Amino acid sequence: MSEPTSRRRFVQTLPGASLAAATAAPAAAGVAPAGTGGYVNPRRVLLWESTRKEVRELLAEGKLKAVIVPTGSTEQHNEHLAMIQDTASATLVAQQAALALYPQVMVATPVPVGVSPHWMHRKGTLTLKRETFVAVVFEICESLKTHGVEKILILNGHGGNVRPLRESLEDFRAKLGIDVQFNSYWDAYTREIKEKYMESKTAPGHAAEFETSFAMAAFPERVHWEGVDYAKAKPLLAVKDERDAAQDEKFAGEAKLATSKKGEAMISIAVDFAVERLRKMIAG
Ligand SMILES: [Zn+2]
Repeated sequence: MSEPTSRRRFVQTLPGASLAAATAAPAAAGVAPAGTGGYVNPRRVLLWESTRKEVRELLAEGKLKAVIVPTGSTEQHNEHLAMIQDTASATLVAQQAALALYPQVMVATPVPVGVSPHWMHRKGTLTLKRETFVAVVFEICESLKTHGVEKILILNGHGGNVRPLRESLEDFRAKLGIDVQFNSYWDAYTREIKEKYMESKTAPGHAAEFETSFAMAAFPERVHWEGVDYAKAKPLLAVKDERDAAQDEKFAGEAKLATSKKGEAMISIAVDFAVERLRKMIAG
């Protein structure tokens, strides 16, 4: 390929990230991330796709400055989105940011199940207890520290993980003695950005305009409108209360506003945000 492929094109060609990606084919060849001016195989920033030789050399040469730990969920995303949405979206933003900063940043294996007790009344959702989830994330950070990683950005894609991680951050830092930061990738979205790009003015929401747009742009194979009839499904849905029922229906309606173009714009903004965050961590 003579010209580097743009990030937009790259996002379209990426087969999606998450643990599921570990068993999928590596991303399309001939792809260069924005800003590097050259080809980088997208595999190279993924810890779980790397060999021990590759990781050892990056560390020994002092090239690897920070690692991103994506955290997600496996939970119901209304009638039309795959359960892996939150894990896949956080991992995709992480991978794009790491590519932009290659070879300074790698992405650790994503945590594919989060704290989702609030969705257990909807079929398919998996949840971890708060303590289990926090322990898993901590021990991943601890493993990275053991190998000499001194800066970690936990990049989250699921709302239920926010409080458990925010409230554990000080403890992580105290125990590990390294720089551990936390953000959900949607922290990138100011009110102005939501108003500019989202007709519903909402992000992240849940399986509504934003997440559906994200999936259409990044991994359209995880959007399944075929056979979806919300009116028909409604009586079959277990609901907690009136609010839960109303919200589910509202999100299902807003999902129809989604376009891949909106998704591309929002993904780019999240990636730029993560890049900036990492740049500051590395410089600091
Ligand atoms: Zn979600």
